[in-house]
Amino acid sequence: MQKIPQNSDNNSVIKPKVLIFGAGPAGLRTAWVLAPFCDVHLFEKESMPGRKFMVAGKGGLNLSHSPPSSGMASVYSPPGFMNAALEVFSVKALQDWMNELGAGVFTGSSGKIFPEKGITPRMILQAIITSLEERGCTIHTACSLQSIDTADSCTILQNGVKVKLSADYIVVALGGASWPQTGSDGKWTGIFRSHSIKTLPFRPSNCGVNISWPENFVQHHAGKPLKNIRLSCGEKSSAGEVLITRYGLEGYALYPLIPSLRRMEEEGMPLQLIIDLKPVNDPLQLVSRLGLKQAESGNYRQAFGLQPHSLALAKLLTEKNTFENPLLFAGAIKSLSLQVLSLRPVEEAISTVGGLALEEVNSDLSLKKLPGVYAAGEMLDWDAPTGGWLIHGCFATGNHAALSILKRLGIPPVV
Ligand SMILES: Cc1cc2nc3c(=O)[nH]c(=O)nc-3n(C[C@H](O)[C@H](O)[C@H](O)COP(=O)(O)OP(=O)(O)OC[C@H]3O[C@@H](n4cnc5c(N)ncnc54)[C@H](O)[C@@H]3O)c2cc1C
Repeated sequence: MQKIPQNSDNNSVIKPKVLIFGAGPAGLRTAWVLAPFCDVHLFEKESMPGRKFMVAGKGGLNLSHSPPSSGMASVYSPPGFMNAALEVFSVKALQDWMNELGAGVFTGSSGKIFPEKGITPRMILQAIITSLEERGCTIHTACSLQSIDTADSCTILQNGVKVKLSADYIVVALGGASWPQTGSDGKWTGIFRSHSIKTLPFRPSNCGVNISWPENFVQHHAGKPLKNIRLSCGEKSSAGEVLITRYGLEGYALYPLIPSLRRMEEEGMPLQLIIDLKPVNDPLQLVSRLGLKQAESGNYRQAFGLQPHSLALAKLLTEKNTFENPLLFAGAIKSLSLQVLSLRPVEEAISTVGGLALEEVNSDLSLKKLPGVYAAGEMLDWDAPTGGWLIHGCFATGNHAALSILKRLGIPPVV
């Protein structure tokens, strides 16, 4: 444990002092950029930095994503919010940073960017921490931000003791509210409400959905993937794979539709997904494959190329007379209507929306009501699909907050 920086009333501290709260991707990147120029102290509530980063790495750490033809910023909502941050912190910037840390990355065939084989999330986290220490940043664990008292002073809790600190600038990167066991528990909203800074309730994003499956269906099919399907919700659609679970559905083809489902839920509308089990075939093509065979499960499975659980789902969601008519059935499996009960809870989601309202921050990520305080990462109310965009957005906003502070200090851009 490093010594907490005491407020000094002499002029011994030459470098401007910056206190950063939250050691996830956003806070780590902010600290890394600022450390050569400022007296940087990074505070983390938990006993180690980056616990959610480590969790994110469990299923393969997806650090970024090669930009779609519409440009990287088009992936993020609300439109325009991420533009300035991404202009500087591009995919190339992320790749260069990882290379500098000794952690090469590669782009998979899906466009997702991962650490090279043999490089674990723990190795990347350790490389960032080592580099931070070499750049002069002091990391304080088990220290939580309790209150921001003025634009340049705050109170922290360390070992049950409240300590008052002052600084030239404060950066908050306190994360969203999913997976609270990692420390990202969203309990920080009161810090801002006490300054009449608007915060919004946390809602799940990139999460599963609840569906009332018949017991017989889940008994046989929970845990099985529906592959190569297209899911739609309103105007939005997404192709890929989803997993049938005991509670409903989960997976990459579902996550991009969560914002639409969330809006419907907020407006009290019924939640509905449309499933196309054969997105590359039209109904006539499918029926021609059936030939003169009867309309029976086995024949449909073979001729239409349906997995047993896909066929079971189709049977569940169609009327008997539709099932028995090949042409009707071939049409039906291209637009099966599935009622969704609700989204899974915030705690289980990959990410959350809500938190600090964007109308409270300036374009340089400083708070309008506390101009010496900057915010970065998932604690701000932006959204993106999972697949590397989230971590990239957190690094990018951390980078942007750091460069904004350097600009205010009159230090020319270096990153
Ligand atoms: C299961 C899972 C898998 C994921 N997979 C991916 C993926 O593959 N790719 C991707 O792009 N994203 C992924 N994500 C999302 C990604 O991990 C997050 O979006 C990202 O970590 C958010 O970064 P952040 O720095 O904003 O906040 P966090 O990483 O949440 O860090 C915030 C930190 O602030 C600390 N803190 C909170 N309150 C205080 C306080 N009062 N004082 C001091 N410290 C405090 C917390 O303890 C925490 O360490 C995944 C998430 C989960 C849960």
